[in-house]
Amino acid sequence: MRYVVITGGVLSGIGKGTIASSLCHLLSNSGVKTSAMKIDPYLNYDAGTMNPYQHGEVFVLDDGSESDLDLGNYERYLDRNLNGDSSITTGKVYKEVIEKERRGEYLGSTVQIIPHITNEIKRRIRKVANEGNLDVLVIEVGGTVGDIESMPFLEALRELRMEEKGDLLFCHVTLVPEIGSEEEQKTKPTQHSVKVLREIGIQPDILMCRSGHPLTEDARRRISLFTDVDRKAVISVYNVVNAYEVPGVLEKQGVIDLIREKFSMPSQEFHDIWADYKQKLLHPQEHVNIAIIGKYTGLHDAYMSHKEAFNHVTGNTGIAVDIKWMDSDSITDDNSLKGLDGILVTPGFGYRGVEGKIRAVKNARETGMPFLGICLGFQVAVIEFARNVMGLEGANSSEFKSDSKNPVIDILPEQVGVKDMGGTMRLGSKKVLIKDGTVAMELYGQKEIYERHRHRYEVNPEYIPDMEKHGIVFSGTDEEGIRMEIMELKDRRNFIASQYHAEFLSRPLKPSRLHQHFILSALEFKQKKMAILEGGP
Ligand code: GLN
Repeated sequence: MRYVVITGGVLSGIGKGTIASSLCHLLSNSGVKTSAMKIDPYLNYDAGTMNPYQHGEVFVLDDGSESDLDLGNYERYLDRNLNGDSSITTGKVYKEVIEKERRGEYLGSTVQIIPHITNEIKRRIRKVANEGNLDVLVIEVGGTVGDIESMPFLEALRELRMEEKGDLLFCHVTLVPEIGSEEEQKTKPTQHSVKVLREIGIQPDILMCRSGHPLTEDARRRISLFTDVDRKAVISVYNVVNAYEVPGVLEKQGVIDLIREKFSMPSQEFHDIWADYKQKLLHPQEHVNIAIIGKYTGLHDAYMSHKEAFNHVTGNTGIAVDIKWMDSDSITDDNSLKGLDGILVTPGFGYRGVEGKIRAVKNARETGMPFLGICLGFQVAVIEFARNVMGLEGANSSEFKSDSKNPVIDILPEQVGVKDMGGTMRLGSKKVLIKDGTVAMELYGQKEIYERHRHRYEVNPEYIPDMEKHGIVFSGTDEEGIRMEIMELKDRRNFIASQYHAEFLSRPLKPSRLHQHFILSALEFKQKKMAILEGGP
């Protein structure tokens, strides 16, 4: 068993997650059985209760774990489903240790960060490594080296290296800023950050230097000299147009051979399964204008998996998705959506922005513009239909109005009264049954699918017969037929919404069927609009 640990220096947000994911991709496509885990040094137990504005999207795994969005990147680059064990937080580690202490399992000893917390960290890492029967486990440490929060984790990893007798590599990601009119590459921040790492007993084996342009030979030489890292292990990770190019950037600099040599590990030749995908992604033949409508649009990472799902569609169809980020509150009238070829109404919680989303859905329903609704987007489409087609006055979700006259979206009876805000939702992978003769059946081509969920509210069963009479087609349900999972409109191909999060299982070579259908519909819609314009009056 071998470990590659990715730490970060200088600044946060320099692409550590993409680099970790890229290493996973390179190794797993070179015949090395690879998986990944993320260490998040915050005290929250998991990302479930975190505001997307602070941490970006909450990513949901098959087992229902609510995790950091980096886990989504690992899954996409590895094409492998992970579970909650792949995410460690300070909250999880301390909770476990304190509970053990309360049970008396430490037999009276003083419980301390070293060794009790560090042992628990190592135990969790080894559990993932052993259960996955892996060749290499890539471990990304969140935050920046030198942060107080990450100290126990780095100490545990230092010990792990010693215990594993060198079968652990430290790969440190740093920034090489380019300054002045000459854009001179400055190596000092890298030197300083390696110094901080060495102070805690960690000598990096590989440096990944982020910069605007490829690292000059002089910068590489200086970095190697001052950090004691081999020149060929100083890797330049320069800016690229699309993050899916990063594995290629690393591979060309011999990163796979480097890791193989350090671990004395056999591996096969790297097989670039994304060659065609990247070609289409970087040279699309068509463009569509799509609005992503939500309340966290100020931070695009809040909708990371949707952005990625659209990348996957582009890489498979050659249709580029030009995204217009729209705050739901900004949708005041029909003019707000002029010039678009389709709208995606996003997941969300709480009432703010919901009326704007309802206006957007109404516009799409009335004008024939392609619509895709996900989770809250699905619920909003049901509310819009109830209000404006069925004439159900004040139709709403009981999430937004507890005394709504027509609670067309309502809470599950078993959830009433739940106080703990973590993990109380319907979470993770659940079976969805698809009905024959529907658009959903055309897209999935099978009666049963599994998709990931994260919601508390459902379509209220009392209203379903009437909704169907008025033209809603619930083309997907849960196994009992109680929970509605997919909504379509009769006689309409380009209006579809799902209670599940189709974006979470979207992968480069297996794009979300709903996102792909939506983009193909948007292109068709755009071409029809153009034909009308060209045809003249
Ligand atoms: N707020 C809604 C619910 O809890 C939708 C959740 C979501 O969009 N993820 O059911």
